[in-house]
Amino acid sequence: MRFASLGSGSKGNSTLIEWSGGALLLDCGFSVKETEARLQRLGRSAKDLTAVIVTHEHTDHIKGVAALARRFKMPVYMTPGTFYSRDHGLIPELRLIENYQRFSLHGLEVEPVAVPHDAREPAQFVFRYSGVSLGVLTDLGNISPHVEKCYCDCDALILEANHDPLMLAGGPYPPSLKQRVGGLWGHLSNQQAAGFLQRVNTSRLQHLVVAHISQKNNSLALVRQTLEPLLASVANTVYACQDEGFEWLEVSGVPPVSVSA
Ligand SMILES: [Zn+2]
Ligand SMILES: [Zn+2]
Repeated sequence: MRFASLGSGSKGNSTLIEWSGGALLLDCGFSVKETEARLQRLGRSAKDLTAVIVTHEHTDHIKGVAALARRFKMPVYMTPGTFYSRDHGLIPELRLIENYQRFSLHGLEVEPVAVPHDAREPAQFVFRYSGVSLGVLTDLGNISPHVEKCYCDCDALILEANHDPLMLAGGPYPPSLKQRVGGLWGHLSNQQAAGFLQRVNTSRLQHLVVAHISQKNNSLALVRQTLEPLLASVANTVYACQDEGFEWLEVSGVPPVSVSA
Protein backbone atom coordinates (compact mmCIF):
# COMPACT_ATOMS: atom_id res chain seq x y z
CA MET A 1 0.00 0.00 0.00
CA ARG A 2 1.24 3.48 -0.79
CA PHE A 3 -0.14 6.95 -0.22
CA ALA A 4 0.47 10.57 -1.15
CA SER A 5 -1.27 13.90 -0.73
CA LEU A 6 -2.55 16.45 -3.22
CA GLY A 7 -2.58 19.14 -0.52
CA SER A 8 -3.31 19.48 3.19
CA GLY A 9 -4.81 22.40 5.12
CA SER A 10 -7.86 24.64 5.27
CA LYS A 11 -7.59 25.55 1.56
CA GLY A 12 -8.06 21.97 0.42
CA ASN A 13 -7.35 18.38 1.40
CA SER A 14 -7.03 15.21 -0.62
CA THR A 15 -5.12 12.01 0.08
CA LEU A 16 -4.37 9.43 -2.58
CA ILE A 17 -4.16 5.79 -1.49
CA GLU A 18 -3.09 3.01 -3.81
CA TRP A 19 -2.98 -0.76 -3.38
CA SER A 20 -2.72 -3.57 -5.86
CA GLY A 21 -6.54 -3.72 -6.22
CA GLY A 22 -7.11 -0.04 -6.99
CA ALA A 23 -6.63 3.59 -5.98
CA LEU A 24 -8.85 5.97 -4.06
CA LEU A 25 -9.02 9.60 -3.14
CA LEU A 26 -9.84 10.34 0.47
CA ASP A 27 -11.59 13.72 0.17
CA CYS A 28 -11.27 16.16 -2.67
CA GLY A 29 -11.13 19.77 -1.56
CA PHE A 30 -9.94 21.05 -4.94
CA SER A 31 -11.68 21.81 -8.23
CA VAL A 32 -11.61 19.05 -10.85
CA LYS A 33 -8.99 20.92 -12.88
CA GLU A 34 -6.79 21.50 -9.85
CA THR A 35 -7.22 17.87 -8.76
CA GLU A 36 -6.12 16.62 -12.17
CA ALA A 37 -3.07 18.90 -12.12
CA ARG A 38 -2.11 17.73 -8.63
CA LEU A 39 -2.64 14.07 -9.54
CA GLN A 40 -0.41 14.55 -12.54
CA ARG A 41 2.34 15.81 -10.24
CA LEU A 42 2.17 12.41 -8.53
CA GLY A 43 2.25 10.57 -11.84
CA ARG A 44 -1.45 9.68 -11.80
CA SER A 45 -4.67 10.65 -13.53
CA ALA A 46 -8.25 10.77 -12.25
CA LYS A 47 -8.92 7.91 -14.68
CA ASP A 48 -6.83 5.67 -12.40
CA LEU A 49 -9.21 6.16 -9.45
CA THR A 50 -11.51 3.40 -8.21
CA ALA A 51 -13.53 5.55 -5.77
CA VAL A 52 -13.71 8.69 -3.64
CA ILE A 53 -14.28 8.42 0.10
CA VAL A 54 -15.41 11.53 1.97
CA THR A 55 -14.64 12.27 5.63
CA HIS A 56 -17.13 15.13 6.13
CA GLU A 57 -18.89 18.00 4.40
CA HIS A 58 -16.53 20.92 5.09
CA THR A 59 -15.57 22.62 1.84
CA ASP A 60 -11.85 21.96 2.23
CA HIS A 61 -12.68 18.23 1.96
CA ILE A 62 -15.67 18.02 -0.38
CA LYS A 63 -15.42 20.87 -2.88
CA GLY A 64 -14.54 18.77 -5.93
CA VAL A 65 -16.03 15.41 -4.95
CA ALA A 66 -19.34 15.34 -6.85
CA ALA A 67 -17.96 16.98 -10.01
CA LEU A 68 -15.02 14.58 -10.08
CA ALA A 69 -17.33 11.60 -9.60
CA ARG A 70 -19.58 12.80 -12.44
CA ARG A 71 -16.72 13.47 -14.79
CA PHE A 72 -14.92 10.18 -14.18
CA LYS A 73 -17.94 8.02 -13.25
CA MET A 74 -16.73 6.66 -9.97
CA PRO A 75 -18.57 5.77 -6.77
CA VAL A 76 -18.55 8.10 -3.76
CA TYR A 77 -18.58 6.72 -0.22
CA MET A 78 -19.82 8.83 2.68
CA THR A 79 -21.96 8.60 5.83
CA PRO A 80 -25.69 9.45 5.62
CA GLY A 81 -25.08 12.53 7.78
CA THR A 82 -22.47 13.84 5.37
CA PHE A 83 -24.73 13.14 2.40
CA TYR A 84 -27.78 14.90 3.84
CA SER A 85 -25.78 17.84 5.21
CA ARG A 86 -25.81 19.77 1.93
CA ASP A 87 -26.78 19.74 -1.70
CA HIS A 88 -23.98 18.01 -3.59
CA GLY A 89 -25.56 18.11 -7.02
CA LEU A 90 -25.82 14.78 -8.75
CA ILE A 91 -23.66 11.96 -7.38
CA PRO A 92 -23.95 9.19 -9.96
CA GLU A 93 -23.05 6.29 -7.68
CA LEU A 94 -23.57 6.98 -4.00
CA ARG A 95 -22.50 4.37 -1.44
CA LEU A 96 -23.63 5.16 2.09
CA ILE A 97 -21.34 3.87 4.83
CA GLU A 98 -21.72 3.60 8.58
CA ASN A 99 -19.24 4.54 11.26
CA TYR A 100 -18.08 1.51 13.26
CA GLN A 101 -18.72 -0.77 10.23
CA ARG A 102 -15.75 -1.91 8.22
CA PHE A 103 -16.15 -2.55 4.52
CA SER A 104 -14.01 -3.88 1.74
CA LEU A 105 -13.06 -2.01 -1.43
CA HIS A 106 -11.34 -4.19 -4.02
CA GLY A 107 -9.45 -6.04 -1.29
CA LEU A 108 -8.69 -2.95 0.81
CA GLU A 109 -10.27 -3.03 4.27
CA VAL A 110 -11.73 0.34 5.20
CA GLU A 111 -12.65 1.18 8.80
CA PRO A 112 -14.67 4.38 9.30
CA VAL A 113 -14.04 5.90 12.72
CA ALA A 114 -16.48 8.37 14.31
CA VAL A 115 -14.65 11.52 15.42
CA PRO A 116 -15.63 14.59 17.46
CA HIS A 117 -15.80 17.41 14.87
CA ASP A 118 -18.42 20.05 14.11
CA ALA A 119 -19.92 18.33 11.09
CA ARG A 120 -23.10 16.22 10.75
CA GLU A 121 -21.56 12.73 10.81
CA PRO A 122 -17.81 12.95 10.32
CA ALA A 123 -15.61 9.91 9.86
CA GLN A 124 -11.88 9.39 9.72
CA PHE A 125 -10.38 6.17 8.43
CA VAL A 126 -8.00 3.29 9.03
CA PHE A 127 -7.06 1.38 5.87
CA ARG A 128 -5.63 -2.15 6.00
CA TYR A 129 -4.08 -4.10 3.20
CA SER A 130 -1.80 -7.09 3.12
CA GLY A 131 -1.06 -7.01 6.85
CA VAL A 132 -0.29 -3.30 7.17
CA SER A 133 -2.43 -0.36 8.24
CA LEU A 134 -2.59 3.32 7.40
CA GLY A 135 -4.50 5.65 9.76
CA VAL A 136 -5.75 9.04 8.60
CA LEU A 137 -6.73 11.29 11.50
CA THR A 138 -7.45 14.97 10.89
CA ASP A 139 -10.37 17.29 11.64
CA LEU A 140 -11.19 16.39 15.23
CA GLY A 141 -11.32 18.51 18.36
CA ASN A 142 -10.21 15.91 20.86
CA ILE A 143 -9.01 12.33 21.02
CA SER A 144 -11.90 10.20 22.25
CA PRO A 145 -11.21 6.77 23.79
CA HIS A 146 -12.74 5.19 20.65
CA VAL A 147 -10.35 7.12 18.40
CA GLU A 148 -7.36 6.18 20.53
CA LYS A 149 -8.32 2.51 20.37
CA CYS A 150 -8.78 2.50 16.58
CA TYR A 151 -5.45 4.22 15.85
CA CYS A 152 -3.30 2.65 18.56
CA ASP A 153 -1.20 0.39 16.35
CA CYS A 154 -0.76 1.84 12.85
CA ASP A 155 2.12 1.19 10.43
CA ALA A 156 1.66 4.65 8.91
CA LEU A 157 -0.26 7.61 10.26
CA ILE A 158 -1.44 10.95 8.94
CA LEU A 159 -2.09 13.04 12.05
CA GLU A 160 -3.45 16.55 12.43
CA ALA A 161 -1.44 19.18 14.29
CA ASN A 162 -3.61 22.13 13.36
CA HIS A 163 -2.73 24.99 15.64
CA ASP A 164 -0.65 26.38 18.44
CA PRO A 165 -3.11 27.58 21.11
CA LEU A 166 -1.22 30.83 21.75
CA MET A 167 -0.96 31.67 18.05
CA LEU A 168 -4.67 30.88 17.64
CA ALA A 169 -5.55 33.13 20.62
CA GLY A 170 -3.47 36.03 19.28
CA GLY A 171 -4.22 35.39 15.59
CA PRO A 172 -6.55 37.00 13.05
CA TYR A 173 -9.65 34.78 13.44
CA PRO A 174 -12.83 36.32 14.94
CA PRO A 175 -13.59 35.14 18.51
CA SER A 176 -16.32 32.69 17.44
CA LEU A 177 -13.99 30.95 14.97
CA LYS A 178 -11.16 30.84 17.52
CA GLN A 179 -13.54 29.12 19.89
CA ARG A 180 -14.66 26.66 17.24
CA VAL A 181 -11.15 25.72 16.07
CA GLY A 182 -9.78 25.38 19.61
CA GLY A 183 -12.88 23.67 21.02
CA LEU A 184 -13.70 20.02 21.67
CA TRP A 185 -15.34 19.71 18.22
CA GLY A 186 -12.73 21.68 16.28
CA HIS A 187 -9.16 20.74 15.43
CA LEU A 188 -6.22 19.15 17.25
CA SER A 189 -3.54 21.47 18.58
CA ASN A 190 0.16 20.59 18.44
CA GLN A 191 -0.06 19.63 22.12
CA GLN A 192 -3.06 17.35 21.59
CA ALA A 193 -1.24 15.61 18.72
CA ALA A 194 1.80 15.18 20.99
CA GLY A 195 -0.34 13.74 23.80
CA PHE A 196 -1.84 11.23 21.38
CA LEU A 197 1.62 10.16 20.14
CA GLN A 198 2.70 9.61 23.74
CA ARG A 199 -0.22 7.28 24.40
CA VAL A 200 -0.24 5.09 21.28
CA ASN A 201 2.29 2.56 20.05
CA THR A 202 4.60 4.42 17.65
CA SER A 203 7.19 1.66 17.39
CA ARG A 204 5.53 0.23 14.27
CA LEU A 205 5.26 3.59 12.51
CA GLN A 206 7.11 3.58 9.21
CA HIS A 207 5.79 7.04 8.38
CA LEU A 208 4.24 9.77 10.45
CA VAL A 209 2.77 12.57 8.36
CA VAL A 210 1.89 15.69 10.31
CA ALA A 211 -1.01 17.28 8.46
CA HIS A 212 -3.76 19.95 8.32
CA ILE A 213 -1.25 22.46 9.75
CA SER A 214 -2.85 25.91 9.85
CA GLN A 215 -1.05 28.58 7.85
CA LYS A 216 -2.40 31.32 10.13
CA ASN A 217 -2.40 29.75 13.58
CA ASN A 218 0.71 27.57 13.52
CA SER A 219 4.29 27.44 12.32
CA LEU A 220 6.43 24.55 11.22
CA ALA A 221 8.99 25.49 13.89
CA LEU A 222 6.39 25.20 16.67
CA VAL A 223 5.03 21.90 15.34
CA ARG A 224 8.54 20.43 15.21
CA GLN A 225 9.46 21.76 18.62
CA THR A 226 6.40 20.09 20.16
CA LEU A 227 6.51 16.76 18.32
CA GLU A 228 10.16 16.02 17.66
CA PRO A 229 11.07 14.89 21.20
CA LEU A 230 8.48 12.12 20.74
CA LEU A 231 9.61 10.82 17.41
CA ALA A 232 12.74 8.82 18.25
CA SER A 233 11.08 5.51 17.35
CA VAL A 234 9.38 6.77 14.17
CA ALA A 235 11.29 5.78 11.03
CA ASN A 236 10.23 8.74 8.88
CA THR A 237 8.42 11.98 9.73
CA VAL A 238 6.97 14.20 7.02
CA TYR A 239 5.26 17.58 7.35
CA ALA A 240 2.45 17.92 4.81
CA CYS A 241 1.96 21.29 3.23
CA GLN A 242 -1.03 23.09 1.76
CA ASP A 243 0.36 23.52 -1.72
CA GLU A 244 2.45 20.43 -2.25
CA GLY A 245 0.82 17.86 0.04
CA PHE A 246 3.49 15.17 0.24
CA GLU A 247 5.12 12.70 -2.11
CA TRP A 248 4.44 8.97 -2.34
CA LEU A 249 5.17 6.97 0.78
CA GLU A 250 5.23 3.18 0.78
CA VAL A 251 3.92 1.12 3.71
CA SER A 252 5.56 -2.26 3.54
CA GLY A 253 4.89 -5.51 5.37
CA VAL A 254 7.21 -6.51 8.18
CA PRO A 255 10.16 -8.34 6.63
CA PRO A 256 10.43 -11.95 7.77
CA VAL A 257 12.85 -12.49 10.65
CA SER A 258 15.93 -14.19 9.25
CA VAL A 259 16.96 -17.30 11.11
CA SER A 260 20.66 -17.97 10.93
CA ALA A 261 21.80 -21.59 10.87
ZN1 LIG B 1 -10.44 20.25 7.25
ZN1 LIG C 1 -13.56 19.94 9.05
